Amino acid sequence: MMQVESKKLNIAGYEICPLPTGIFGLDGGAMFGTVPKVLWEKNIPADDKNRIPMEARALLLKKPGCNIVIDTGNGSDFVLKYGEKLGHKFQEMYNIDPHGPSLLKSLKNHGLKPEDVHHVILTHLHFDHAGGATSENSGSLAATFPKAQYYVQKKNLETAQKPNLREKASYFAANFEPLLSAGCLQLIDGDQKDLIPGVSVLVSNGHTVGQQIVKISDSKNTLLYCADVVPTSSHIRLAWVMGYDLNPMLLIEEKQKWLELAASEKWYLYFEHDPFCDAALISKQGSDFALTQRLQL
Ligand SMILES: [Zn+2]
Repeated sequence: MMQVESKKLNIAGYEICPLPTGIFGLDGGAMFGTVPKVLWEKNIPADDKNRIPMEARALLLKKPGCNIVIDTGNGSDFVLKYGEKLGHKFQEMYNIDPHGPSLLKSLKNHGLKPEDVHHVILTHLHFDHAGGATSENSGSLAATFPKAQYYVQKKNLETAQKPNLREKASYFAANFEPLLSAGCLQLIDGDQKDLIPGVSVLVSNGHTVGQQIVKISDSKNTLLYCADVVPTSSHIRLAWVMGYDLNPMLLIEEKQKWLELAASEKWYLYFEHDPFCDAALISKQGSDFALTQRLQL
């Protein structure tokens, strides 16, 4: 495997700080859709239950007076959130390591407390992205970041509130209803350039309806927080899409559009779920794409 290079990035005045929130396990077959296991297991080996290790890697954009968190990992307080029966099973089912890093521990490593966060951009409300958005506070659920403005696409909230059968097990009201009650969830309708200066959101509908990926950009550098459009570095291959994706052909189309730009304009791609590298640079290889540099930010 290609060596991982360490790199510190500062884009649009923000220090780019990965926030690992912990390793969990997802079914390897579901993560790679129609790609045969003999191919994907070379990149990420599976355990005896066919689960592969996934990171839930949020991102901190750190700037004095403007700290932004993108996605929040699986979170905790599963019994309070999902009830006795599912709550107890949840940690085991997804092999969530209770002793590893967490969103708040990672934030603390950068000298920040929950009240220091000004903005939280949720790419979508699937539990492995929005699970840490709410947490227990004096016995009930509240926004984890009490002073932050949260953002999600309006269409994604509508989908989460009335999930289809395939996504029902991924959208849980406990991860977003407390934000709505507190009045801190702003609904975005479509792409938005400079939602916060230097930070834009781009809508993708292939994985779920109303996912927003995040582009951090200045005149020199661009980093794309790929979320579930390109969950790991293995997924830069166009046909490598997840079994979870609602509309795989649309996802491939969207992914191709952004990867063309990433290759030609040398964007950094940030991988939320890759257990082995934070980010990468890519290039065009024939009609597909290949990694040119794996990065640890
Ligand atoms: Zn998702």
